[in-house]
Amino acid sequence: MPAAADPLEALREEALISLSDARDDASVELWRNHWLGRSDGRLTILLRSIKDQPADQRAAFGAGANVLKVTLETALEEKLESLRQAALARLGTEGALDVTLPGRPQLRGRLHPVTQTMRDCLDAFAQMGFRVFEGPEVEWSKYNFDAARIPEDHPARDMWDTIWIDTAAGDPREILLRTHTTPNQIRVMERTPEPPVRVVVPGKCYRHEATDATHEWMLTQIEGLAVDEGVRMSDLKGTLYQFAQTMFGRDRKIIFHHSYFPFVEPGIEMAIDCFICRGNDSKCHTCHGTGWIEILGAGMVHPEIIECHGYDSSRVTGFAFGIGVERVALLRWGIDDIRHFYSNDLRFLRQF
Ligand SMILES: [Zn+2]
Repeated sequence: MPAAADPLEALREEALISLSDARDDASVELWRNHWLGRSDGRLTILLRSIKDQPADQRAAFGAGANVLKVTLETALEEKLESLRQAALARLGTEGALDVTLPGRPQLRGRLHPVTQTMRDCLDAFAQMGFRVFEGPEVEWSKYNFDAARIPEDHPARDMWDTIWIDTAAGDPREILLRTHTTPNQIRVMERTPEPPVRVVVPGKCYRHEATDATHEWMLTQIEGLAVDEGVRMSDLKGTLYQFAQTMFGRDRKIIFHHSYFPFVEPGIEMAIDCFICRGNDSKCHTCHGTGWIEILGAGMVHPEIIECHGYDSSRVTGFAFGIGVERVALLRWGIDDIRHFYSNDLRFLRQF
């Protein structure tokens, strides 16, 4: 039988020519529907007609039709693959990679100004041999208040009364967001059977605070503690002086005032000389015309606190200090409002 007279061969030729004309996925899809469509594709109809062939030709026709089906399906897969390869090749050659285009800027992350300041403060103390210790932000009342010599009826509890955590059972005023990092000083002493102790404990603290330019309800604190034989006020003074010089410049002067904190005796506040006006501007916003900027509170650890951790207060003494990290950051960059730090304004944050 001549090839042209074979209806299957004629269909094969027609189908393959029309497939080779297809230039994109859409026209290949049209071809698939036309030839292999499930209900009325031309090959589908042909396969359905096997049963109508004369009995003596039916087997040969069926075999030929199935070969044709495999041929067309294979040709379809090859066509799709060649379109995929062509598309990939075009990506490389048709300007998708234009080396003359300006690059897309990579957004660079950076540390929050308070985090930067906290790390710088910790570095300053690490250089003096202090170890960093961190602890929980959700704290037991006994650690936050009782162990820091702030009993139930103490005025400092009102001053600092804070965010309590509801518990299913027990005293509703048992667990809170810590109001200072002092509880971690207590933990360090608990874990250190014998002095010396020399640590700084950084972290976020939470207070019931009406926010304004200098107060936030969440603040970052660094507290320091040194306990050993013969630790004296002059050691505290030297340590804080060194810190002030590292953070605010070698020519800083410092001054101490008496103050009150429940866990130290005596308590002091340290101020540095105003590096903006150097005491020469009665309208200076940074020092309010006094020439001095309050930086931190400190003092000699109360003997009761030393004793309650099993240390012998007749033998060892200690000093402690607390620094508001936001306050240091405000001063170092001349920022006018503490609320900028946590308002999530990237225009502000990108400056540091
Ligand atoms: Zn000033």
